Amino acid sequence: MEADDFSIKRFLKYISEGKLKGLKCAGCGNIIAPPRLKCSVCGSSEFKWVDLSGKAHLLTYTIIHVPPKRFTGETPYVVGIVQLEEGPRLEARITGFDVNQHVQILKTGMDLIFEPSPAGILSFKPLI
Ligand SMILES: [Zn+2]
Repeated sequence: MEADDFSIKRFLKYISEGKLKGLKCAGCGNIIAPPRLKCSVCGSSEFKWVDLSGKAHLLTYTIIHVPPKRFTGETPYVVGIVQLEEGPRLEARITGFDVNQHVQILKTGMDLIFEPSPAGILSFKPLI
């Protein structure tokens, strides 16, 4: 893939390689994740990939019991909205604990850290 490939596919490929990256807007410095065609702040479409810290906090979450077909067999699992330290909000899997036994550890606002996923599924785990 090209270095100037700013696609979701490239974003997910980085995740499958254990790297959390976002786009930095050349126009205003805004950090964008997942990739978009244009910066939501200034409208520029000139970007570069930057490493993100992997630090985030949990805004909200839900437990999935009836999944999309491709995730059949993985239930129950938790999907949350996380806010990265750098600002962007993303939907992600919340992993690193037994959902059946310990889902009560989840608290909105809690600190999370990026969890590498060879399957390329954006995932974070509680920092506890
Ligand atoms: Zn911008």
